[in-house]
Parts: sequence; structure tokens; C-alpha cells
Amino acid sequence: MPECLFCRIVSGGVPASRVLESPRTLSFRDISPQAPTHVLVIPKDHHPDLAALAAADGSLLTELVSQAAEVARAEGISGTGYRVVFNTGADAGQAVPHVHAHVLGGRGLGWPPG
Ligand code: 5GP
Ligand code: ZN
Repeated sequence: MPECLFCRIVSGGVPASRVLESPRTLSFRDISPQAPTHVLVIPKDHHPDLAALAAADGSLLTELVSQAAEVARAEGISGTGYRVVFNTGADAGQAVPHVHAHVLGGRGLGWPPG
């Protein structure tokens, strides 16, 4: 069994509320939502963070970002707006070392974030 939590979600070993799937990505609802829509978009392959993914596989990064936009459309927040966040490293509070895009929307999000 892989140790990485999000790899285990990809393999089905850990349940998740799936929203969308593409050939190389999976989107599922955050277990602790910070907005009415809070979906995580991950590559099925393990890459630790955004920089590692960008260096290793630019086409997969493109698919990930396209899928984030597709999630926003599917959730009905394309018109009202949304935020896509890649937390990277300790100061950003990255808790899961498998790159993931947070797609947040469904309310005014404010700026700057806290
Ligand atoms: P990070 O802080 O690494 O950017 O974001 C990790 C996110 O994963 C957090 O928002 C957290 O709520 C979410 N998360 C942690 N464990 C699980 C889980 O088991 N299932 C789901 N769906 N989300 C999780
Ligand atoms: Zn992983």
C-alpha cells in the first residue's frame, strides 16, 4: 500500500467524494471545505509539489490546470469566479506532499488571503 494519502485516494484505498476524472488527473472534494465549492485536483502520478511537476511533466501540469477550470464549470462557479491555489512548502501550509490544486468558490473569497 503506498504511503502517500493522495496516491491512496487515486488507487481507491482511501475513499473520496470524486467530482471529475481525466486520463491523468482526479478531482475530489476537500474533506474540510473552506468555501461552498472546495475541490482538490491532483495528478494520478505522484509529484511532490508544483515546481517538481512543472520540471518533470509540463503537459501533465497543463492537464491539471485545464481540469481545475473544468471543475469550476461543473460546479457552476465559472461565471461568479473562483480561486486556484497551489500551496507549496511549510510557510504555505502544504500538508500533503502530492501536488494538488485547490479550486475554491461559491462565495466572495476576499484578497489578500489571511
Ligand atoms: P494543503 O494544506 O496540503 O495545501 O491541502 C491539503 C488538503 O487536503 C487540505 O485542505 C485538507 O483538508 C485536505 N485533506 C486532508 N486529508 C484529506 C482526505 O483524507 N480526504 C480529502 N478529500 N481531503 C483531505
Ligand atoms: Zn502521492
